[in-house]
Amino acid sequence: MSNPYFDHALSLLNEHFGYKDFRPAQKPVVRSLLEGHDTVAIMPTGAGKSICFQIPALVLPGLTLVISPLISLMKDQVDALLSQGIAATCINSSLAASEADARLAAIASGKIKLVYVAPERLDTSYFQHILERQPIAMVAVDEAHCLSQWGHDFRPSYRRIAPFIASLPHRPRIAAFTATATPEVKDDIIRLLDLNTPSVHITGFDRPNLYFEVRRGEDKKKFVAAYVRHHPSEPGIIYAATRKEVDSVYALLKRRKLAVARYHAGLSDTERAASQDDFLYDNVPVIVATNAFGMGIDKSNVRYVIHYNMPKNIEAYYQEAGRAGRDGEPGTCILLYAPQDTMTQKFLISQSTEEPERKAQSLGRLQKMVDYCHTPECLRHFIIHYFGDTSAPERCENCGNCRAGFARIDVTVDAQKVFSCIYRMHERFGLTLVAQVLKGSSDKRVQALHLDRLSTYGLMKERSIAAIKLLIQRFVATDYLALTESQFPVLRLKESAYDVLRGKEKVYQAVAKEIQKEAEESELFDQLRALRRTIATHEHIPPYVVFSDATLRDMCAVMPKTLDAMQAVKGVGEKKLEKYGERFLACIRKFR
Ligand code: ADP
Repeated sequence: MSNPYFDHALSLLNEHFGYKDFRPAQKPVVRSLLEGHDTVAIMPTGAGKSICFQIPALVLPGLTLVISPLISLMKDQVDALLSQGIAATCINSSLAASEADARLAAIASGKIKLVYVAPERLDTSYFQHILERQPIAMVAVDEAHCLSQWGHDFRPSYRRIAPFIASLPHRPRIAAFTATATPEVKDDIIRLLDLNTPSVHITGFDRPNLYFEVRRGEDKKKFVAAYVRHHPSEPGIIYAATRKEVDSVYALLKRRKLAVARYHAGLSDTERAASQDDFLYDNVPVIVATNAFGMGIDKSNVRYVIHYNMPKNIEAYYQEAGRAGRDGEPGTCILLYAPQDTMTQKFLISQSTEEPERKAQSLGRLQKMVDYCHTPECLRHFIIHYFGDTSAPERCENCGNCRAGFARIDVTVDAQKVFSCIYRMHERFGLTLVAQVLKGSSDKRVQALHLDRLSTYGLMKERSIAAIKLLIQRFVATDYLALTESQFPVLRLKESAYDVLRGKEKVYQAVAKEIQKEAEESELFDQLRALRRTIATHEHIPPYVVFSDATLRDMCAVMPKTLDAMQAVKGVGEKKLEKYGERFLACIRKFR
């Protein structure tokens, strides 16, 4: 349907931005705003939210206020608009009084179409002079999830927006934009902005040009240094959980003579601004940062985002990872997971000042993030499904798991062992204890609780604790089990698990071959380690004198069949080959 306003919008898009058309997801949002409706647009990072309000702002008579959370980025956004011939300015607390007055005067004179304002500055008396002369046609709320306590970036100052709008002589149309799609956040935005039967537009969350991968048990430092070295001129972001961790990765890369910048809240304003500029203007290809970095950064050519630590939830992860490939070219998003990351995030949640109910929610969302790190299936499917879109194909063929290829395996018997063990433990214990019981561990707690008397005790004694835990985590990730949302989560059986216990349903898992190999390797590793312990005890020497961990790992990778092949394993000299070779070979043979 052609509409003169919309045609005007198209010609302005072409004139100022050089784009021939709106993207399919932008069109309904632009139309809705031109028609005067309150509008909520939930679009993934990179989908092009800004243009959805910038173009209507040019078409509509009067001013558009853009509420944006970060003062530091306003200037860049305004500079970008000015360079595109769009009259814009910003008002925030960093301006000297005389400069602020000059800007207010320019706005009042009608020369300006877009004004970026920090929420703290929303004060009608401050704008009084302007309001008498210039009607406000639209208020665009960027990063609108900042309104919601459920969101990952709650900002109390965002709660001033609704009272401010209510105090205006004429109610403008309101546009809210965010990349966070959970229903709670959406409902909060509508309620807290007091929107009037808004039209809500949710864009598909898939970012097909992004490749996702999770790596567990990686030597993180080595991996990051190698990755940066092998992608020399590509802009990349490395996110770490804490300032300390940022500093240590930064120092590591510096020592390797790699060009990097760093960014975290512990640095001076000057240093932070310099780092950000160096990265934005391609002076330095890589930035190591905490999650304080990136909101509103619209550098479009970021080629990779590596998470050195697991973030606190999928929303945060997808937003941060989504900073790769905003130009539509391929981007790589790799998450390096270690169990310690879960501990760190739990600690942060327990230390926060959140209400108990909120803490439980945060733990629940953290669990989903942990599930992502363990899912044996398609990673993209997992993310898109999390955001409530059930239409995503089962496989994307562009994530670490899909690319590794899947082995479809029948894990019914394993599932029955795990589920019945949880059942017999009355669904009162967590991952570690269940794994210990299945392993038949002689841990003190197991004994004190008399769990060694259960019929499921030792049902998986041939496997390592790590392998059993991974197996259980996969059943959580594939929705047979749930972990309660508490500081010490307890494993519970879901309805589907009862069907499996009753023998009514079989369990298959499409397990990425790499994950399968990893689990097998760690199982064999455990068996080799047990053998090493036996030998060491017998010879009264420390185990590492028999073979180092590195040697055992290499044995797992090589899986030698003959003594000759065994000699090719790192750390197996002639002497040791002669002494221990046969016994370790036998162990590997048996494992096969
Ligand atoms: P978001 O705020 O949703 O993360 P941006 O507004 O920064 O996304 O836009 C991402 C990139 O897409 C920018 O480089 C922008 O210029 C570009 N873009 C936006 N709309 C269009 C369009 N209609 N055609 C082509 N490119 C576009």
